Amino acid sequence: MLNIKDKVVLITGASSGIGEATARFLAAKGAKVVLGARRIENLQTIAAEIQAAGGVVCFTALDVTQKEQLIEFLQFAQTQFGRVDVLVNNAGLMPLSLIEDLKVEEWDKMIDVNLKGVLYGIAAALPIFQAQNSGHFVNITSIADRWIGPTATIYCATKHAVRVISEGLRQEVGSNIRVTIIAPGATESELPNTISDPEMKKAAIEQFRIDLLPAEAIAHAIAYAVEQPANVDVNEIVVRPSAQKY
Ligand code: NDP
Repeated sequence: MLNIKDKVVLITGASSGIGEATARFLAAKGAKVVLGARRIENLQTIAAEIQAAGGVVCFTALDVTQKEQLIEFLQFAQTQFGRVDVLVNNAGLMPLSLIEDLKVEEWDKMIDVNLKGVLYGIAAALPIFQAQNSGHFVNITSIADRWIGPTATIYCATKHAVRVISEGLRQEVGSNIRVTIIAPGATESELPNTISDPEMKKAAIEQFRIDLLPAEAIAHAIAYAVEQPANVDVNEIVVRPSAQKY
């Protein structure tokens, strides 16, 4: 049976873009959604709108660079709804720059959020999934999980790493726990705001961010993976705008 209804779905980085669209779409399909991000005022607005539309939602502040906050995020969901069915590891940032610019602090941030944040999410959820004998990790990578290009090298490295970790996790956890990566192409969101260099941001928008997918397109891909029967593990979905060349 295909199902999303009543699944408890946790989403990191749910305050804008793909995370927000996923929260709205899955809630409309009957999931109980648990939202986490740092911009609590955004979460408040999104949750109120989901609730007004008849959805079931709760939210809490979450910084994925703090591993104890991921543990608390999972505990919060369990307290609210008694179980956790899906963790969407979505929080991410993409401050593009050339390596020679040595923006080491931005490299650190990408590693902390895009890579370690996902690992902390896995570490917090895995014992719960094992105890339940069920669970589903949905890790949002990017086409940068298999592609490399100038200015995006460190971003690509973090996303390649998440693809590798996801496949290793899939092989290790056995048949009751599912692992999916969703690899979006250029998608409408606030992601370019994380590029600190104004010239780099302008160039990235002109060169790469054309014919963007709506964030809902990625939400639909996530829903497809989530709604499959327990014995069907959709491992990878790559979604690009039709016009995207890279
Ligand atoms: P947005 O900038 O709109 O969303 C990023 C989300 O990540 C925000 O909700 C932000 O919330 C959250 N976030 C950032 N840092 C932290 C943190 N330390 N702790 C918790 N949450 C954090 O961009 P997208 O929706 O595009 O990004 C979502 C994912 O999709 C990312 O992993 C990105 O790499 C990936 N992706 C996006 C593509 C695109 O073209 N848009 C293409 C391919 C992949 P807050 O600031 O409130 O904490």
